[in-house]
Amino acid sequence: MPTLRARVLTCVSADELTFLDDAVVCIDGAQIAEVAPYDGRPVDEDLRPGVLLPGFVDAHVHYPQTRIVGSASGPLLQWLERSTFPEEARFADEEHAQRIAATFVDRLAAAGTTLSMVYGSVHPAAAHQLFAALAGRGLKAIAGPVLMDRDCPPALQLPADPALAGLEALRQRWHGHDAGRLQLGVFPRFALSCSAALMERAGAFAAEHELFVSTHLAETPEECRVARERFSAADYLEVYERAGLVHARAVFAHCVHLSPSEWERLAAAGSVVAHCPDSNDFLGSGGMPVSDVRGRRIPVAIGTDVAAGRSFRVPRILSSAYDNALRQGITLSPAQLLWWGTRGGALALGHADTGQVARGMQADLCLFDAGPWAEDAAAVIASLLFDHDAGGMRCTWVRGRQVHPAPG
Ligand SMILES: [Zn+2]
Repeated sequence: MPTLRARVLTCVSADELTFLDDAVVCIDGAQIAEVAPYDGRPVDEDLRPGVLLPGFVDAHVHYPQTRIVGSASGPLLQWLERSTFPEEARFADEEHAQRIAATFVDRLAAAGTTLSMVYGSVHPAAAHQLFAALAGRGLKAIAGPVLMDRDCPPALQLPADPALAGLEALRQRWHGHDAGRLQLGVFPRFALSCSAALMERAGAFAAEHELFVSTHLAETPEECRVARERFSAADYLEVYERAGLVHARAVFAHCVHLSPSEWERLAAAGSVVAHCPDSNDFLGSGGMPVSDVRGRRIPVAIGTDVAAGRSFRVPRILSSAYDNALRQGITLSPAQLLWWGTRGGALALGHADTGQVARGMQADLCLFDAGPWAEDAAAVIASLLFDHDAGGMRCTWVRGRQVHPAPG
C-alpha cells in the first residue's frame, strides 16, 4: 500500500474537518508519510471515488454478544437476564469462544474499526481467544474479560482470586503485544454484578500495572437506585470512587443519569465517557446529556455497545448520536461527530498515533464508497453518517496492510 490516490476525509479537531477531493497518500512501512493534493505523480493504486478515512474507534463493545445483535428484550436489567447472560454462559466452551472471536474480529474489520475497547465474557480462556483473534488480524484493542462475582447466573460468577489470577495470566501473555497494539483492560461489569472487594482489587490491579479500566455507569434510573442502596452510597459514582476506579484511565459507558455532582467529579478525574446512543435508544435507557460533557470538556468516545447497540458500524452509531443531541436541542456538527468516532476516540483511549489521515500517523485506514452523487464534502459526510443504505467499507487496512476484505 505504498502510494495511493483517493478522496480523503479526516478530522483536524472537533471543530474542523479536512476534505481533499483528489489526494495522494504515501505509506512508508506502517506509517503515513505524506498526505497532499494530487500532483500528477504516478501512483500504485487509484481508489477514487472511494473516500479514505481514518479507521474508526469503538470505545465500548461486547464480543460475546456478537450473535445476539438485534435481540429486543430490554429494558437493561431484563435484557441482561433474557438475552445476554444465557449467551455469555456459552463462552465457558473455549471452542465456541474461538469461533465467535473470529467472527467478531471480521465484523470489526468489515466496519472499518481499527481500535476498540472490548469486553469479553467472565471466562479468562475466552478472553485469550479474543486476543489471539485480534492479534491475528493486527487490530488495536484494549480488551479483557468482564469481572462478575454476584447477582448473575452462577455459571457467570468468578470469585476475585481466580478472576485476578486470570487477569495476571492475560497481562503477561498479551499486554503490550505487537508494539502495544493490544492492551489488557480491567472491566468490572457494573456495580450490580460485583462485590465491593472485587471492584477494589480490580482497581488496585489496574493501578499497579497502569491499565485502562472500564465499566457501565448510570445507564438506567433503576440501576442507579440499586447501586446506591446496595453500597449505601450517596450516588452511583461514589461506588466506583471507593474502589479506585475513577481516574484518567477510566472509561465509563453510558452516563445517562448522572447528577451535577457526579459530572463534576468525572470531569475533575479526567475520565472518559463512552457514549452509546444507539444502545440507549434500543433499550430505552434515555439520552446522554450532551451539554454536560461538552460544557465540562469531558473526553467522549463513541461505543457501538454491540449487542445492545444494533450495528458494528461506528458511522451508524454517530447518526444515533446526532439524533440524541437533536432531541436535546443541540445540533452536532459533522466534525464533532467524526471526531468522537475517530481521532477524539483514539486520544481518549490513549492512542495518540492513530485516528487521522495525516503524516506521522499509523496507516490504520478504511475506504468508504459514498454514493456517486456525493461530489462535495457535505454530500460525502451526509452519505457516510446518515445514509444507512450507503455501501459499507470497501477496504480496511492496519499499518498499511489490508485486513478487510480478508486477503485471500
Ligand atoms: Zn455495554
